[in-house]
Amino acid sequence: MDILNAPVTALNGVGENRAKLLLKHNINSIEDLLYFFPRAMEDRSTVTKISSIGAGEEVCIEATLLTDIQVRKIRSNMTLYSAIVSDDSGSIMITWFNNKYIKDVMHKGAFFRFFGKIARNGGRLCMTSPTYENPETSLHTGSVVPIYPSTGTLTERIMRTVMNECISAAIGNINEYIPENIRMEHQLCEINFALRAIHFPKNRSEYEIARKRLVFEEFLMLQLGILHTRGSVSEKSGIIFETKNSFAEFTKKLPFTFTNAQKRVVEEIFSDLSSGKQMNRLVQGDVGSGKTVVAFAAMYAAYKSGYQSALMAPTEVLASQHYKSALSFFPEEEIALLTGSITGKKKQEALDNILSGKAKIVIGTHAVIENNVEFKNLALVITDEQHRFGVRQRAALADKGNAHILIMSATPIPRTLALILYGDLDISAVDELPPGRQKVDTFAVGEHMRERINRFMVKNLDEGRQIYIICPLVEESEKLDITAAMQLAESLASGVLKNYKVKLLHGKMRPKEKNEIMQSFASGETQVLVSTTVIEVGVNVPNATVMIVENAERFGLSQLHQIRGRVGRGSEKSYCILFSDNPSEQTRQRLDVMCATNDGFEIARRDLELRGPGDFLGTRQHGLPMLKIANLFTDMAVFRKAQGAAEKIYKSDRFLEKYEHLHLKNRLNRMFKENLGTNIIG
Ligand code: ADP
Ligand code: MG
Repeated sequence: MDILNAPVTALNGVGENRAKLLLKHNINSIEDLLYFFPRAMEDRSTVTKISSIGAGEEVCIEATLLTDIQVRKIRSNMTLYSAIVSDDSGSIMITWFNNKYIKDVMHKGAFFRFFGKIARNGGRLCMTSPTYENPETSLHTGSVVPIYPSTGTLTERIMRTVMNECISAAIGNINEYIPENIRMEHQLCEINFALRAIHFPKNRSEYEIARKRLVFEEFLMLQLGILHTRGSVSEKSGIIFETKNSFAEFTKKLPFTFTNAQKRVVEEIFSDLSSGKQMNRLVQGDVGSGKTVVAFAAMYAAYKSGYQSALMAPTEVLASQHYKSALSFFPEEEIALLTGSITGKKKQEALDNILSGKAKIVIGTHAVIENNVEFKNLALVITDEQHRFGVRQRAALADKGNAHILIMSATPIPRTLALILYGDLDISAVDELPPGRQKVDTFAVGEHMRERINRFMVKNLDEGRQIYIICPLVEESEKLDITAAMQLAESLASGVLKNYKVKLLHGKMRPKEKNEIMQSFASGETQVLVSTTVIEVGVNVPNATVMIVENAERFGLSQLHQIRGRVGRGSEKSYCILFSDNPSEQTRQRLDVMCATNDGFEIARRDLELRGPGDFLGTRQHGLPMLKIANLFTDMAVFRKAQGAAEKIYKSDRFLEKYEHLHLKNRLNRMFKENLGTNIIG
């Protein structure tokens, strides 16, 4: 058996208990453990003389205990353990709290290396809760030491001990998986060296050499995995649509003219649709760039060619909105709407029409692909606003045969990240807004501005405009958040806004109720909509010109951008007010970004910078392995090299059948299995 596959319990010192704790970090096998990289390295290599240390420093000393450990109960639940230690330059007190084992470990006359922080305690210096070690070894002190994320009883110290054990058991026995020629070309160190040195480097340069290889490896694996998922779809033949006349016919039905960007993207899509190959395309476009009509143009081509197409939206509200827009392009009796609130006879009728082929245009929530809706001749599937569209859902789509696939996203992600997340898709960008759009003036304000903002709301309402007020909602405290939103709506409706029609919308409402409220806002009857984030995406009410966001610090930047995109859709000047009393520096920086720019791509870039790629969009949801070591900003040059190498391997030995690719194939399968549930390469 490959050593990497062995469970962690194969290691000395790891029993069921520790194995359980390790599992909390998703560590099952020796391989998982070796790829659990330190979050930092700390240089503890310099041993300092006691006489030259000062308060506040973190230092390493080597000293002898002048006393046994003294025990003193300070409070009922707190015991202090202490001793005086000395080296040839002086002496100092060391202390621990509630560490009863220390008495068994240390006795008068024993010689140890200690690492810890120096505090001043009643005029005397003292080292508090030091890490200690026999001076003959240097695992925790006396060297450059790896610092691991720790959880509960699985301390940093235990992690280091376990890792040390793992390194001695595994290093030397791991089969190299990067082919020799690629390692030579890119000057990458060998795997056994890399995994030892990333945890226990003898010096800085060893660490750098190891990191370089592991970053490359991470990108290489990711790219190979992506090439393989892509391989299975892009090779598929696709239904050929009649697109020649569709373009002109469709544009005649538009109430406006396409922007150049829309025209270009529709052309790209049409060229896919008539190519004979299955389309797999992502359309990115900032909020309000007009992606919906682009989708309808594609559906029109399917329609004209006699095929069914489906458009899926993440919420019912959006699905209904799309349905209404679709009525200006397609005959009503040939459109089927499928959402959770359509039930009974109506639902059956829709399902029947979809099966018989009478319904050529199907609009709904994601239930459309996930349930067993049967189509007669589905040839195009479009998902809207689906930035969380993962590999798994794509697999569900693949089940629908060789239908063309179009994904539309308003979360503008930087090109480099798009290449990684969506590397298996072709990408189009609607990178231009329809004419006449204005910048939404944005202000970050504190509670002290409340009165002024209230007056500002009244002024806008009197001018005939409408207002959104968004309250944050997080799942863990959903009830509390809904209560807060309700209270706000009530206090406005009975207070400053008592002369206007205020309604509350939140995610816990029944779909029918939600729809009615949205309708009444869209029609202008409701003037102020207080809502949790359910309207975050897609909704289009051009007369709404003021967007107020409560507790703005609780939203991600890209999310705020989406929310702000609900206003500024008509010809009137629009405003966005971000309320936050959170004083943190990060909040201030983030809200400043919102005030400074309306450009979704710039905002996404700053978001990525401020939050880091792990957080951004919740990378895990995409079904790709998380990046453990590579940095999307600083390692982009390596990314491009790894991408080239991946393509080279893929071209020369697509299914990794050559002997020199055996270990690579095994590792790739192990990496993607957890996320995909199957071997990526058979
Ligand atoms: P998004 O890309 O955010 O999904 P929508 O498709 O909802 O944007 O479009 C936003 C608004 O812009 C809609 O009211 C739509 O009718 C309008 N629109 C789209 N394209 C154009 C255009 N070329 N000229 C003028 N208005 C447009
Ligand atoms: Mg949209």
